[in-house]
Amino acid sequence: MQLKEVLDRTHIVSIPTKTNFRGVQKREIALIEGDENWGEFSPFLEYEAKEAAQWLKSAIESAVTPFQGNGIDFIPVNATLPAVPIEQVGEVLSWFPGCNTVKIKVGANEDLQRIREVFRINAGAQIRLDANGLWSVAEAKSFLENLNKEFGSSLDYVEQPCQTLAENKKLKNEISFPLKIAIDENLRKVRQVGQGRNLNEILEVADLLIIKVAPLGGISACLELIEKVDIPVVVSSALESSVGISAGVALAAQLQIKSEPPLPFGLGTVALLEGDVVTNPLLPIDGKIKVEKIDIDINQLNKYSVSDSRKKWWHQRIIDIYSLGSL
Ligand SMILES: [Mg+2]
Repeated sequence: MQLKEVLDRTHIVSIPTKTNFRGVQKREIALIEGDENWGEFSPFLEYEAKEAAQWLKSAIESAVTPFQGNGIDFIPVNATLPAVPIEQVGEVLSWFPGCNTVKIKVGANEDLQRIREVFRINAGAQIRLDANGLWSVAEAKSFLENLNKEFGSSLDYVEQPCQTLAENKKLKNEISFPLKIAIDENLRKVRQVGQGRNLNEILEVADLLIIKVAPLGGISACLELIEKVDIPVVVSSALESSVGISAGVALAAQLQIKSEPPLPFGLGTVALLEGDVVTNPLLPIDGKIKVEKIDIDINQLNKYSVSDSRKKWWHQRIIDIYSLGSL
């Protein structure tokens, strides 16, 4: 799509989040109306043009490509638990009915208490931890060794425990039990992921890869990357509306056939938003979300519409990305 067309067809909304998710309490999202579908462009506000460009590429790809469900009806998802106060854990889990796997954000205060609360509510839960690189090797080691003593095999994997790949490798080598590490930021924050050496280095450490459609530049870019690896991938989201999640669902539906039994994907996060922009929100029911084309709700677009100055800011952001010349 040409710049003018993108600007003419972009609707900006701001949707409140139900919890404070890594400091985000309102999610600003640009929605692009294509001839075939809609695309979501929602890099976090602090991302610079170069990083945000991948998200725009992904949004445009979605807008111009018909939704493909690949004949799959549902995909399994995990619950996502942000660092909420302990007394709110039960409420957040109730937003993810039927999700037995719970991804818990860690690296903040009261992590262990929050994890215990999850097991108090659901003794049979499987947990995934996501530290977003906030732990040092020593912190990760001591936390995980203790957790292993207390809950053992209930830990599915830890996502991005430490910031650098080298630290994550060190952790893996030094820990006393077989810890599965999922790599997220080290994959999507590196320029030209999947290019030779970088990917090989990542694969030396990663037991799983977290694949997010928008930051990796779209469904086809993700498929290209996934083709190069033979470890499990978990398609996940970045707190998007159902429009962005829909692209993740389409990717997950393509992978579903390959993995048996299917791993739950990290795509249930619409449950963390106070509202949505479609008539058929991709919310978890019975541990799954439905694979279907989204249907935009114009009333919701109006309800969550932003001020003219925010619209202007987003238009400028898109203009800046086009001027990089990489789209
Ligand atoms: Mg992550």
